[in-house]
Amino acid sequence: MIIFGTRGVKSTLGQGSFNCPQCECNKAYKHKKVTRFFTLYFIPIIPLGKLGEYVECQSCKGTFITNVLNYQKSPSADQFLSQYEIAMKHTMVLIMLADGEIDDNEMATVLKIVNKFGHNDITLQELQEYVIKVQRNPEEISTYLKGISPSLNLHGKESIIKCAIAVAASDGNIDASEMKLIYEMAKVMEMNKKHFDRIIEEIKNPEPSFSAN
Ligand SMILES: [Zn+2]
Repeated sequence: MIIFGTRGVKSTLGQGSFNCPQCECNKAYKHKKVTRFFTLYFIPIIPLGKLGEYVECQSCKGTFITNVLNYQKSPSADQFLSQYEIAMKHTMVLIMLADGEIDDNEMATVLKIVNKFGHNDITLQELQEYVIKVQRNPEEISTYLKGISPSLNLHGKESIIKCAIAVAASDGNIDASEMKLIYEMAKVMEMNKKHFDRIIEEIKNPEPSFSAN
């Protein structure tokens, strides 16, 4: 049996220091490029084109669009974070709505996550208004997530999945419709099944585990 497929391979284009919008101070960064490769027996063989580029803060591991490097002086953090904020808000609200009920605890968790990830803190009322908007026009879970996915490192993808699980679990149980949507998110972000299963396992068994770092 010949095993072939494609996967994204990361390479570093450059590094230096930048004004990290998340740390809000000067930090080291790596400018990374993701190239899609045709793989044979999991070994990247043929480059198929660029998937994306991003700037990764070496301190908080946050990922940003490359434009972040052009605004050293006074970065308008909102500008760089906005696409993450939109994606975060949209996906978390869809997870909250997945089981057909809105629980106060779920709402509070979503608000906490959205405000932790973004720099434009929103109020509970603003979130409630947004939820109504999403209920009227749900859009696919991939709508905004797809756009930011090539700019996310593994850490970024993992934390989005963990946040989604936190939202789903905040009403007391994660039901099948929520799990299905979370798995869909992992697929949109091209996480492999093994990695996804490991995150789920970690959450179910929060024992100290041996991790790579
Ligand atoms: Zn940072």
